[in-house]
Amino acid sequence: MSSQPQYDLKISGITESLAILKEIDFELAYLAFLTHEGLKPLSRWEKPLEDKELQLLEKMNLLTKRITRIVNAGREVQENIFSRSQAYIDLYAKRFENTQIDKSPETQRFEGFLFGYPPCCVERYILKPYAANNLNEKDQKILFHWACRNCSITPFILDSYRKILDLLENL
Ligand SMILES: [Zn+2]
Repeated sequence: MSSQPQYDLKISGITESLAILKEIDFELAYLAFLTHEGLKPLSRWEKPLEDKELQLLEKMNLLTKRITRIVNAGREVQENIFSRSQAYIDLYAKRFENTQIDKSPETQRFEGFLFGYPPCCVERYILKPYAANNLNEKDQKILFHWACRNCSITPFILDSYRKILDLLENL
């Protein structure tokens, strides 16, 4: 992107952390930024994170927690969650800590609520994952949920996500 977009977000306090995170993993920086702006109440990172990376998230005023989950074979895996809200961290921990990873409709609804997904999209996805929608591929790619057809919420979310992505790409 050649032109510098002008936005009214107050991000001077987090640009340094974002710039470092972006070098480590662009998607992690993007998620952290969306969560910082409150567009996602809570985010989950399923790959391992080192203390250094958790500290960068914390420098952005995000609360972090490592969560232990169980996979089918009984093996333990670590997830990392982050949020501006202690209440959301507690909700996730209470619901999922030391539980088996599953994709039941109940789990998907709870996750959708925590991750800021539109409920209509969550319900549609439970009925039929990745059903055709009317988004172009580029727009769908910058989202973390699969939009339902003719969604009345996603276009607004997309505008906000694009703004965050623009800022991050131009950091
Ligand atoms: Zn929807």
